[in-house]
Amino acid sequence: MAASKPRAVISGGAGFIGSHLCEALLATGNSVIAVDNFITGSPDNLRALQDNPDFELSQADVNQGIFIDGDVRYVLHFASPASPPQYDSNPIHTLKVGTVGTMNMLGLARAKEATFLLASTSEVYGDPLVHPQPESYWGNVNPIGPRGCYDEAKRCGEAFAMAYHRAHQVDTRIVRIFNTHGPRMQVSDGRAVPNFMAQAIRGEPLTVYGDGSQTRSLCYVSDLVRGVLAALERGDALPVNLGNPQEVTVLELAETIIRLAGSKSRIEHKDLPVDDPKQRRPDITHARELLGWQPEVGLEDGLARTLEYFRSVLPR
Ligand code: NAD
Ligand code: UDP
Repeated sequence: MAASKPRAVISGGAGFIGSHLCEALLATGNSVIAVDNFITGSPDNLRALQDNPDFELSQADVNQGIFIDGDVRYVLHFASPASPPQYDSNPIHTLKVGTVGTMNMLGLARAKEATFLLASTSEVYGDPLVHPQPESYWGNVNPIGPRGCYDEAKRCGEAFAMAYHRAHQVDTRIVRIFNTHGPRMQVSDGRAVPNFMAQAIRGEPLTVYGDGSQTRSLCYVSDLVRGVLAALERGDALPVNLGNPQEVTVLELAETIIRLAGSKSRIEHKDLPVDDPKQRRPDITHARELLGWQPEVGLEDGLARTLEYFRSVLPR
């Protein structure tokens, strides 16, 4: 009988990044159990996998504990609301899934002697005073602002991962993910890329918050997924940044999307949200050296691919 495939359990598997990871884990010879409570994700994101005998989708809230029979080789914790409006409207759930949810997933990894990977975030750097951000920077986070529920939960999740590594010798990974975009982002999750693309396609004004001089660095999802798999395979317990260092202002991003969409939309400025980080760009030296990873998809190429997706899901 053929040896059974290594099994991966991924929380948040029905979300944007999680669904791409399910596909990538299957494609690299694993069987996959996706666990999701669908608070921001949807089983629709996994429809293409529903008949795959190596794939299973389980509806469950990882904050309540997670119980899986049999061997597990990898445990990936991607469950969490991820867009500022979504975590702002679910602050307690966001805190729980980043803390208790992380602890539960680490407990599963410990019980199964599996490798654990935490989807952390560039938000652990808050509104950074060091630019670009290396992993050694401890960050500038406001714990009591509207982003605190997300930022502090992820910081606590990192502390949990390190504690399970040190106290229980769990084989852990922490990836600090910078702004990522691609197919299966929710049209209405409130992030800049879906907002701008939907607005450009519909011919509505693009809502740039503040003067648009704040910067972000956007990574295309296929690059990010390669980085996550590399971290699982070749990483170590210390955090590693995964993102594309190509930095743009939010105003430039809006203008680029209008141009790529061939849209006649104009730009409309709205109030800047509280604690909106002024600058963000990953220093990916560590990822290059440790994982041999760097992004391959350029900004405009990636945006064009994501735009194609939004065109396919938005009514004409
Ligand atoms: P997403 O909202 O599309 O996916 C998150 C998934 O987690 C959803 O399917 C949601 O239903 C599920 N979920 C939430 N709470 C849960 C719970 N208690 N139990 C089970 N499932 C639960 O968001 P995304 O953009 O795919 O982000 C995925 C992960 O990557 C998140 O942890 C996020 O913090 C992290 N991340 C994303 C980005 C980005 O730019 N997309 C950047 C940094 C970090
Ligand atoms: N933003 C914007 N208009 C929008 C949505 C977002 O100007 O309709 C800005 C937001 O204020 C931030 C940047 O775009 O400066 C990126 O926002 P996003 O929510 O995508 O991610 P963040 O990096 O803030 O978590």
